[in-house]
Amino acid sequence: MSALREAFLDELKDLLDAELQLLKALPKMAEAAQNDGLRVAFQEHGGQTANQIKRLGQVFAAFEEPVRGKKCKGMKGLVEEAQELIEEDEGDAALIAAAQKAEHYEIAAYGTLMSWAIALGQDNVTQLLRETLEEEKATDKKLTVIAQTVVNTHDSLRDAEPKEAPTPRRKPKSRPSDSQTRKRRSTKRPSATRGKTKSGKAPRSKRLRSGKRK
Ligand code: FE
Ligand code: FE
Repeated sequence: MSALREAFLDELKDLLDAELQLLKALPKMAEAAQNDGLRVAFQEHGGQTANQIKRLGQVFAAFEEPVRGKKCKGMKGLVEEAQELIEEDEGDAALIAAAQKAEHYEIAAYGTLMSWAIALGQDNVTQLLRETLEEEKATDKKLTVIAQTVVNTHDSLRDAEPKEAPTPRRKPKSRPSDSQTRKRRSTKRPSATRGKTKSGKAPRSKRLRSGKRK
């Protein structure tokens, strides 16, 4: 049990740092967002994240441990990637992808801590972690919905050619008749060409020969 408690506290410190990193990154992501809904979602999640950090403080208190973070390399990498996307002006779709990666990272971390809190018999801590976990999942779902809007309207895709996608979709609809006629033609063509070569070339040579002879 003491090993699990130690693992829990290590993970808790890591998660606190992850949340603090995301708290700093979210305003930058909100500023970079073109879509109004996305900007608001980032802003709202910034507020939620601040509250989640407070909850983590309560978890530390429940374990009678000082509130202390430990550098979270995972979130550092995810935030750096998001920063690169912003600098390269990759657009909203890319921004959402980066945000969802961060949310999934948090969902994994909170899910693990919640399981461990249950195992440690920490009911109050379990409830605190569950509240945050549900917020992270809701945020992830919200981002998925926004992503669908953003991608469909091509707001976010840099160098996007809106007419490129619909064209291949339309073709299959008109293809059945086209392909049917093509098949009919293609089946007719070989027999027609066969007929021409057989009935065309041979008689010509015979005619030429017979013509030369004459
Ligand atoms: Fe969070
Ligand atoms: Fe989050």
